[in-house]
Amino acid sequence: MAQLAAHPADLLVIGGGITGAGIARDAAMRGLRTILVDQNDLGFGTSSRSSRLIHGGLRYLEEGDLKLVFEALRERKVLLTTAPHLVRPLPFVFPVHQGDRVPLWKLWAGIWVYDLLAAFRNVRWHRLLGKRGLLKQEPMVRERGLVGGVRYYDAQCDDARLVVATARSAIRHGAQIANYVAVEDLVRADGQVRGARVRDRLDGSEGNIQAHLVVNATGPWCDLIRRLEDPASTPMLRPTKGAHVMVRRERLGHEAAITLTSPIDGRVMFVLPWGDFSYIGTTDTETEQSPDEVRATPADVVYLLRSANAAFPNARLSESDVLATWAGLRPLVAPEARVGASQIPREHLILRGPGGMLSIAGGKLTTYRVMAAELVDQVTEILHQLDGRARPPRPATDREPLPGGEAQDLEPLGQPGLELGLPIETVDYLIRCHGTECAAVFNLVRERRELARPLAAGHPAIEAQVLHAARRELAQRVEDVLVRRLQLYYETADHGIGAARHTAELMGEELGWGEERISDEAERYRRMVEDQAESWKLSRGG
Ligand SMILES: Cc1cc2nc3c(=O)[nH]c(=O)nc-3n(C[C@H](O)[C@H](O)[C@H](O)COP(=O)(O)OP(=O)(O)OC[C@H]3O[C@@H](n4cnc5c(N)ncnc54)[C@H](O)[C@@H]3O)c2cc1C
Repeated sequence: MAQLAAHPADLLVIGGGITGAGIARDAAMRGLRTILVDQNDLGFGTSSRSSRLIHGGLRYLEEGDLKLVFEALRERKVLLTTAPHLVRPLPFVFPVHQGDRVPLWKLWAGIWVYDLLAAFRNVRWHRLLGKRGLLKQEPMVRERGLVGGVRYYDAQCDDARLVVATARSAIRHGAQIANYVAVEDLVRADGQVRGARVRDRLDGSEGNIQAHLVVNATGPWCDLIRRLEDPASTPMLRPTKGAHVMVRRERLGHEAAITLTSPIDGRVMFVLPWGDFSYIGTTDTETEQSPDEVRATPADVVYLLRSANAAFPNARLSESDVLATWAGLRPLVAPEARVGASQIPREHLILRGPGGMLSIAGGKLTTYRVMAAELVDQVTEILHQLDGRARPPRPATDREPLPGGEAQDLEPLGQPGLELGLPIETVDYLIRCHGTECAAVFNLVRERRELARPLAAGHPAIEAQVLHAARRELAQRVEDVLVRRLQLYYETADHGIGAARHTAELMGEELGWGEERISDEAERYRRMVEDQAESWKLSRGG
C-alpha cells in the first residue's frame, strides 16, 4: 500500500482481467508510470471463465463483421507467436446435419472467407469433409442426417494464465500491479478524477493512489465504477451470462474440437478438448446474477448436456458426468451506450466520463492487445494536453514475447525435467503452463527433490509449481493456485480439496504465513468449492 501511494502515477488501471492487464502492459512499454489494481485475483472475472479460444469468431462472420474477424485472426497469429506455450493451434470439425440452420454450402463459403481473411497467417488451410470422411475422423458424431462438414483451424489458450503473463510483462516494463486491492471510491481534484481510494482486502489497510488519469477496465463491473464517477450515468453494459460444463473426454470420444449448432435454439456452440477432459459451452442468457456471484445454474447444465447429447447420441451425458462448471458475464456494450460515443460502433467501446475517467468494455480475449493500444493512444493524447509531454509511439506489443513465450520450439525445454526423472506427462504440463520458465520450476526441484511430488494423485501438477506461483505468478490465496494457475479445481474429482492444505503450507513458506492463516486458507478453499457445486446440482435446483 505504501508503495502504491508513494508517488502519483500517470495511469491507474482499475481491473486486472485481460483488458486491464493489456492496457498496463502497453502503457508501461510506452514508459508511462502505471499502476494496476484488482479487487480479487488477476483474471478472477470473465477472463478466466471464457471458452478459452483465440479465434476470429465464425459468429461475427455470419453477422458480416469482416473487419472484426480480420483483426481477431491477425491477433491469433500474434498470440501464437508471443505466447506459444499458452496459445496453441486447435483443429475443429464442424459437422452439418439435414435441416441445420447453417447448410453445408454456406458453411463452406464462410470458412473460405475465414481462411482468406487470415491472409497467410493461417494455422492450416480448411478441408471440406464428406459424410464418410467426417465419420472417419469423428466416429462418435451423430450419423443420422449427417451431410458432411468442414475441418478448420483456430487456437486455444489457458485464459487465466494469459492474463497473468500479460500482467507480468507489464511488471517487467515497470508497472506496479497489486491483486486483492479494491477501489472503493474515486479521488478528485478540481472536479476531475485523479486517483482512487483503495483497500487491501488481505490485510485491511487503506490508502489513496494518485494518478493523472484513471482507466476503468472492470469488465462486467464497469457500470459500478462509472457510478462512482457519475451516479446518474446510464449503463454502458448489458451483460449476458455464458456457462460451461467439463466432462471426461472419453465420454464423448472426440479428437478435434467440435463446432455444432444447438438443436435447442440453433446457436453455435463448442465441444472442446482439454487434455483428458472436454468442456462444452456456452450458453448466452440474460441474468440478474452479479459478477461477484455468477454461477452455472441447473438450467445451464441441462441446456449444455442436451445440446452435446444431440451431437453425440451415444454419450448420453447426465449430471453425474459433470466434473466442474464455470460461468462468466460477457461485458457486452449496450446498444444505447454507443449514442454519443467517441468512436465508430465496434465490439468494444471507450467512453470518457464527466470526471475524465476512461471506461473500456466489450471486446474479447483474442483482441485485447488492439483494445489496449487504442485506449493507451487516448491516454497519451490526454496526458499531452494536460502537461505538454511527448506522445510515445505504439510499442512492439505484437513482437515482444510474453513471459515464458521466448521459444517457439517447445519440446527441447523439457529435457532437463526428464533428466530429473519427472514423468513425461508432468514435463509436458510444465511446458504448457510455463514455457521457457519451466526452467525455474526444474531448478526448484533440483534444490529440493521432494518438490517433484504431485499435488494430487492422477494430476500432472507438482509441488514446486505452488512455490513458483507464489514467488513469480502473483498468487496470494490457495484459490489462485488451485483454480487459476494450476486448474486442479477443474481437473480433479475432488476439485483440489485434498491438495488445499498442503498448497497452503507451501504458499505459507513463501509468503510467511503462520498456522492460523494456513488453516484459514485451506478451509476457505473447501467452502468455496462446496458453494460452487451447490449452484448447479440438478437434484438440488430441480
Ligand atoms: C462464457 C464466455 C466465453 C467467452 N469465450 C471467449 C473466447 O473463447 N475467446 C475470446 O476471445 N473471448 C471470449 N469471451 C470474452 C472474454 O472472455 C471477455 O471479453 C474478457 O475476458 C473480458 O475481460 P475484462 O478484463 O474486460 O473483464 P474481467 O476479466 O471480468 O476483468 C475485470 C476485473 O475487474 C476487477 N474489478 C471489478 N471491480 C473492481 C474494483 N472495484 N476494484 C478493483 N478491481 C475491480 C475484477 O475483479 C476483474 O478481475 C468469453 C466471454 C464469456 C462470458
